[in-house]
Amino acid sequence: MKAFDDLYAANAKFAKEFGNSTLTGRAARGLAVVTCMDSRIDPLGLLGLEPGDAKILRNAGARVTDDVLRTLVLAVYLLGVDRVLVMPHTDCGMSKVTDSDVHVLTSEQGVDTRSLEFHTVPDQDEALRHDLMRIRSTPFLPHNMPVAGAIYDVHTGLLTPAPKPHPTAA
Ligand SMILES: [Zn+2]
Repeated sequence: MKAFDDLYAANAKFAKEFGNSTLTGRAARGLAVVTCMDSRIDPLGLLGLEPGDAKILRNAGARVTDDVLRTLVLAVYLLGVDRVLVMPHTDCGMSKVTDSDVHVLTSEQGVDTRSLEFHTVPDQDEALRHDLMRIRSTPFLPHNMPVAGAIYDVHTGLLTPAPKPHPTAA
């Protein structure tokens, strides 16, 4: 397990200073954040949060997939979440390729990924609108729950809230 030795060593130090946490698995600030796996994003830091405050759901592109919906249902009904922020970011790799591009790139390395859907993001604003609507319209989550979208700028650290949906939008 040499590949992970650095992590175990770091954790041994971490645990020494950890103390005895009294946090529970409930989100103390009632928040769930859906964001990208991009390694430049520090969701807790950029939102002024600490461990215990929020549920952080990450995947490629910050997409609201079936699995994200499943997780939000559990987070809301079992773990104290009462508001959701969907937070894609600038310079996202998922906005620079299409699913077909990915299939070509992987096939060049001898892997056929055509049975996978990557949920790439040709239009980031449109994808965010779609993903927010998915959360707002699912029958499994409370209809009056605050749901917002905001784009995180990986170069400036600033978060720009997405426009509110049109009041007549379904
Ligand atoms: Zn990304």
